[in-house]
Amino acid sequence: MKVTDHIEKAKGETLFSFEIIPPLKGRNIQELYGNIDPLMEFKPPFIDVTTSREEYVYIDRDGLLDKKLTRMRPGTVGICASIKHKYDVDTVPHVLCGGFTKEETEYLLVDCHYLGIDNVMALRGDAMREQQYFEPTKGGHPFAKSLVKQIQDLNCGKYLHEVIEADDCADFCIGVAGYPEKHLEAPSLKTDLKRLKEKVDAGADYIVTQMFFDNKKYFEFVAAAKDMGIHVPIIPGIKPIAVKRHLQLLPQVFRIDLPQDLIDAVDDCKNNKEVRQVGIDWAIQQSKELKAAGVPVLHYYSMGKSDNIKAIARELF
Ligand SMILES: Cc1cc2nc3c(=O)[nH]c(=O)nc-3n(C[C@H](O)[C@H](O)[C@H](O)COP(=O)(O)OP(=O)(O)OC[C@H]3O[C@@H](n4cnc5c(N)ncnc54)[C@H](O)[C@@H]3O)c2cc1C
Repeated sequence: MKVTDHIEKAKGETLFSFEIIPPLKGRNIQELYGNIDPLMEFKPPFIDVTTSREEYVYIDRDGLLDKKLTRMRPGTVGICASIKHKYDVDTVPHVLCGGFTKEETEYLLVDCHYLGIDNVMALRGDAMREQQYFEPTKGGHPFAKSLVKQIQDLNCGKYLHEVIEADDCADFCIGVAGYPEKHLEAPSLKTDLKRLKEKVDAGADYIVTQMFFDNKKYFEFVAAAKDMGIHVPIIPGIKPIAVKRHLQLLPQVFRIDLPQDLIDAVDDCKNNKEVRQVGIDWAIQQSKELKAAGVPVLHYYSMGKSDNIKAIARELF
């Protein structure tokens, strides 16, 4: 079932969902299930599974370093299929421009269709670690907008090199990313919103936001998006702070601001156990206010560990 249909069916009730990251290559999927199991009592209608792009590794061959490209966390579509069937829940694989040719994306979408996956999240992806800026993959998409268009074309039977009329066409519901504090490369929030509108005009059905820690930023973003003519659901993404290092890391990586009260509370913590609790408490307050404002879904970034998400969900769902 589509994410947008879940939202419609909920008739204004806020839904619970979360995002997980595939395990490192070679690790067991049971660990992932161990983190999903405790969250299923809150009845998420859908679970997102991220995709990590390829990165360079250096292999020592008799003293000489061999530079190789590899994916550390492959398996997004396989994980989506296994979760979907194990828990009878919809899954949303993240599909990236970076690291994939359009043909590879087409095959991935065909796999998703065979597997009964009804939703995909269309993302550009970040620059590779060694690059300062995002460089489009040869034969791939430069921006999420054109990836959205490819998925929409496929929904109409328009494949890259042929048009195929079939009774059982793909009909993906497409999510895209939105940034309440603007995307780090965008020259202004207004320009970024124009780009977001282009993604919606290309066929995106809903938006999931980057994490934010001040709800005012989300409310202002939703209002500005409406003014811009964006009328699809905008799902807030919530990340509980979990370690002290997040105070430096999150603003640096995502170019987001942290409220002073939150910084002070984390600063006062004697250890990361206390930080985790501050993160939970903050996310609960954020979530309560967002829920009271009638957001369609509260979507949590779990980063692999679910104990804090469970503590938050228990207070809200
Ligand atoms: C909810 C969510 C989930 C995510 N999941 C993943 C994941 O699984 N894996 C992963 O690697 N990353 C993920 N990301 C990170 C995302 O890939 C990065 O933030 C990336 O840098 C931008 O992706 P995008 O889809 O927003 O790109 P785009 O929408 O393509 O925008 C990228 C930048 O280009 C600008 N832009 C867009 N169109 C144009 C144009 N025509 N001309 C000039 N500029 C333009 C935009 O303003 C923006 O600054 C996620 C982010 C969010 C918010």
